[in-house]
Amino acid sequence: MILFKDVSKVYGNGVTAINNLSLRIYKDEFVFLMGASGAGKSTLIKLLMKEEDPTSGKISVNSRDLSMIRRGAVQRYRRQIGVVFQDFRLLEHKTVFGNVAFAMEIMGKSRKDINEKVEASLSLMGLSKKADEYPRNLSGGEQQRVALARAIVNSPRILIADEPTGNLDPANAEQIMYLLELINSQGTTVIVATHAQEMARKMGRRILYLDHGTRNDNMSSGGGGAEEAMAAGDRVNISSAFGEFAANVQEEEYSGLFTEDNSVSDEGGK
Ligand code: ADP
Repeated sequence: MILFKDVSKVYGNGVTAINNLSLRIYKDEFVFLMGASGAGKSTLIKLLMKEEDPTSGKISVNSRDLSMIRRGAVQRYRRQIGVVFQDFRLLEHKTVFGNVAFAMEIMGKSRKDINEKVEASLSLMGLSKKADEYPRNLSGGEQQRVALARAIVNSPRILIADEPTGNLDPANAEQIMYLLELINSQGTTVIVATHAQEMARKMGRRILYLDHGTRNDNMSSGGGGAEEAMAAGDRVNISSAFGEFAANVQEEEYSGLFTEDNSVSDEGGK
C-alpha cells in the first residue's frame, strides 16, 4: 500500500508543489492521477520514487517509511517500481530485446534468467516477433509496449506511467490501457498520470484529482466525488473491446513473468 500523510513539498525556489496531501493507494489498485499542468503530478511521482524528499509529512510504501531508506539503499527500493514515460525513452542502438534486457544486465543477472524474463515480458506485451527489431522500425504504440515490457521485466510491485498515451493515436492509446490493466491484473499496482480525462473515465478506475498540489475531489464532473469509480454499468470492458489484440497476446506463450518477487512483502504491508 502507498500512503501519503500530510505531505508537502516546497522546492528551493519557494514553490509549493505538493500541499498537505494525504492519499492511500491499495496494492491491487489501478488509479489515475489527473490535474492541470503544474498541479504537482510529476512531483508526486518523484516523491514516490524518492528522487525528491518531502519538506514535511510522511510517505510509506508497503509499510516502509521512505525517509528511513538510506542513500545506499535507494536504488534497491526503486527496483520495485517500474516507470514508463510519454516519450518511451528507448535506447536507439539496442534492439527490442536489448532494451528490455539492459537493466537486468546491469544488475548482473544470469543470461538464462535474462532470456526467460525478457521473453516472458515481450510475450505478455505481444512483442515476441519484434525482439530483434530496432526502435526506429517500430510504431509509437509498439515502442510504448517495449517500454512497458522493460518496466515490468523485474516484476515490480508498482508501475508508474507518466502520460503513457500522450504521443499515441486513440487505437494505440487504448491498447496501452488494455496492457496496463493486464499488468494490474497480474498483481502490480498501476498509477497513471494523464491529461486524458475521457479515457480515464472510460476505464472506470479511481481517479485522484490534483489541484495546486492537493486533492480536489470536486473536479470530478461525474459528481459523487473523485474518489468514486464510475458505476459498474458505465464501465467499458477494455479487455473485450480489444478482444482481438488480447487474443493475440494470450496466444503467445506466457511463462510466469510475475513470480515470487511480487508476492513477497518484506515488511508485511498490504
Ligand atoms: P505537473 O507534473 O502536474 O505538471 P509538477 O510537479 O511538475 O506538476 O510541478 C508542480 C509545481 O512545482 C509547478 O509550479 C512547477 O513549476 C514547480 N516545480 C516542479 N519542479 C520544480 C523544481 N525542480 N524546482 C522548482 N519548482 C519546481
